[in-house]
Amino acid sequence: LVVLGIETSCDDTAVAVVRSDGEILSQVVSSQADLLVKYGGVDPKMAEEAHSQVIDQVVQEALDKAYMTEKDLTAVAVTIGPGLSLCLRVGVQKARRIAGGFNLPIIGIHHMEAHALVARLIEKDLQFPFMALLISGGHNLLILARDLGQYIQLGTTIDDAIGEAYDKLAKWLGLDMSRSGGPAIEELAREGNDKSFNFSIPMKQHKDCNFSYAGLKTQVRRAIESKKIDAKIPISSASYEDRMSRADMAASFQRIAVLHLEERCERAIQWALKMEPSIKHLVISGGVASNQYVRARLDAVVKKNGLQLVCPPPRLCTDNGVMIAWTGIEHFRVGRYDPPPPAEDPEDFFYDVRPRWPLGEEYAEGRSESR
Ligand code: ATP
Ligand code: FE
Repeated sequence: LVVLGIETSCDDTAVAVVRSDGEILSQVVSSQADLLVKYGGVDPKMAEEAHSQVIDQVVQEALDKAYMTEKDLTAVAVTIGPGLSLCLRVGVQKARRIAGGFNLPIIGIHHMEAHALVARLIEKDLQFPFMALLISGGHNLLILARDLGQYIQLGTTIDDAIGEAYDKLAKWLGLDMSRSGGPAIEELAREGNDKSFNFSIPMKQHKDCNFSYAGLKTQVRRAIESKKIDAKIPISSASYEDRMSRADMAASFQRIAVLHLEERCERAIQWALKMEPSIKHLVISGGVASNQYVRARLDAVVKKNGLQLVCPPPRLCTDNGVMIAWTGIEHFRVGRYDPPPPAEDPEDFFYDVRPRWPLGEEYAEGRSESR
């Protein structure tokens, strides 16, 4: 099997060609970093236009790099949710046009499921059931993956996701936003003292596996104000003292933000092992999982609790087409796909995009079980 994966749920246009033995034949990402800098965030309309402008070319490049044409594909996989509906539609339209034109089955993919399952591409020993902590810009999920398509949510955020907090802090600290805030904070934090600010760990009193980052953000915001850190002065022109105080802020934030993850994971592992004693692995994925500090801290917790950490390489943690193609392969193998759309008008009927789509809800309507 050879599957083309298309991802346009947020600000990256990502396409890849993956073979069922796990060989990545090509992967291309076109990011909208310049738009992000200009508008200070993702504007759905702008993002949609940017996707539309590059989608044909990104798909072509992915095929070329794989030395393939559409005729060599077995199926097309595309993210149908969750995400920005305008953006999702660009990917879905493209997928339908290819599938319709070349008589290929189409597989609608859940973006967060793909973040989790890509771990099975890189770690062949990773069998169900396993646990996953999915940490990105829009999600903070702890799940128990019992089987393909069967996910139990152990915890989610009650407000913001950790990646959002990293991005906000980067903005407040005047960091270079030509890429996302996370890597900039990770780098700066290495220069700082992580105990110089005493932020409190979120949700200490809640004995569950949910997350919260809004309170920590407020604490950090107040500390920034009291230290008179001015985001309008870019860090590159800050005085040594100013730079150090920003680094301390980044390091102290990161320590607590990640401690929160550690505590929740520890509780979740103990709980999940009671339910599924055969669990051996905890996967971390999503953009924030590309952070080395996050990886090291979680590795320790996971090992201490008798499991093994599985973490995809950074470029497979952030949004990518490989995870979509791979998840497509997983579903295709068990017969979960839709038939090719009619060639004469592939966009004839509305393909259900699902901007809000909780993971854990079974694949149901809109998707054939077996064909
Ligand atoms: P979602 O998957 O929830 O829809 P998304 O698709 O925007 O969100 P991803 O590409 O999976 O997100 O992740 C992007 C997020 O990861 C951003 O918030 C970014 O700051 C964060 N991130 C990326 N690299 C790092 C890093 N090294 N350290 C911390 N955070 C990081
Ligand atoms: Fe993502």
